[in-house]
Amino acid sequence: MKEKIWLSSPHMSGKEMKYIEDAFRKNHVFPLGPNVTGLEEDIVRMTGAGHCTCLSSGTAAIHLALILQGVKQGDEVICSSFTFSASANPIAYQGATPVFVDSEDLTWNMSPDLLEFAIKDRISRGKKPSAIVLVHLYGMPAQLDILMAVANEYQIPVIEDAAESFGSTFDGKSTGTFGEIGVFSFNGNKIITTSGGGAMVSANPEYCRKALFLATQARDAAPHYQHSHIGYNYRMSNICAGIGRGQMEVLADRIAKRRENYFYYREMLAGIPGIAFQNEPDERYFSNHWLTTIVVDPAGTGGITREVLYDALARLDIETRPLWKPMHLQPVFENAPAYTDGTSERLFRNGLCLPSSSNIADEDRKTVVDAIRNILKH
Ligand SMILES: *Cc1c(COP(=O)(O)O)cnc(C)c1O
Repeated sequence: MKEKIWLSSPHMSGKEMKYIEDAFRKNHVFPLGPNVTGLEEDIVRMTGAGHCTCLSSGTAAIHLALILQGVKQGDEVICSSFTFSASANPIAYQGATPVFVDSEDLTWNMSPDLLEFAIKDRISRGKKPSAIVLVHLYGMPAQLDILMAVANEYQIPVIEDAAESFGSTFDGKSTGTFGEIGVFSFNGNKIITTSGGGAMVSANPEYCRKALFLATQARDAAPHYQHSHIGYNYRMSNICAGIGRGQMEVLADRIAKRRENYFYYREMLAGIPGIAFQNEPDERYFSNHWLTTIVVDPAGTGGITREVLYDALARLDIETRPLWKPMHLQPVFENAPAYTDGTSERLFRNGLCLPSSSNIADEDRKTVVDAIRNILKH
């Protein structure tokens, strides 16, 4: 039996075990520890961020970032609509209201025009947004120059949700290092993994110090257990961090392979009418191409829709996934304000993520291409 072709699977390097064995040998089987410190140093070196705190997940990192920006009950926080729910859920944890902003066509990320419109409109209604959660979807950097200029003009702090864009850069600078705080995820399906985990980076050492404090049940500096804040158990395990250190040794290879997947699909599916890709708009953008994504226009494919393609590939044991369903269309956020122009809705309706693992076999990648060409009779 042929194995299923997965969308994005973990890809161990073989270097992880030496860090885990070291932790076992020294009985460092607890949260924090030398592997966590080592991984934080690796992340600082790779991203050029000043400081890093590793945490139990990307979601935990977004939650703490919001707390550190002072987001509280009744506040409004602007958030990319076209994203995974983990970008928006922590806003609700704080009792704040997400205000969703739609995407632009170029990068599929937050539209600078709609962002400015939304800020002005919220201010005119009496409430200035407390923060902006800005996502770099599928690894593609958002239009950071323009978006940061808008945020700075209105003096609203930006939290970059770079969960999918670890290793991506804009103008030579790592995503996650443009805003006040940047967030990465090392969940099992991301470009590198700690099995589950995340990190926060910032130029401001206070944010990372406070994040660790809050992630450790907000324990005051006293030998007895004293608490003057509500805390969380959001630390990263020293065992998970060992996996991360082994993964960091091969991050450059993983990025190269994911990008190679994208170039392969783009070349092999070139010239098929009705198929378009998420492309880097110009040389300032460097995407890790975590997932290669296509948009299927039924007007060009002779009526074949994303749904048809998805179902036909699933029958061949090829796992694909529709693009994220925008947050402003989610039942749970139906009452949240949203500034939309149909862009993310159209991408969601027609978009599909292709198998993009860094350990995908060459023949499997060819199987995917042949299947798509066959379904589209090309
Ligand atoms: C994966 C992901 C997260 C959450 O990360 P976890 O580590 O799974 O909590 C947040 N935002 C986006 C856009 C993601 O893709």
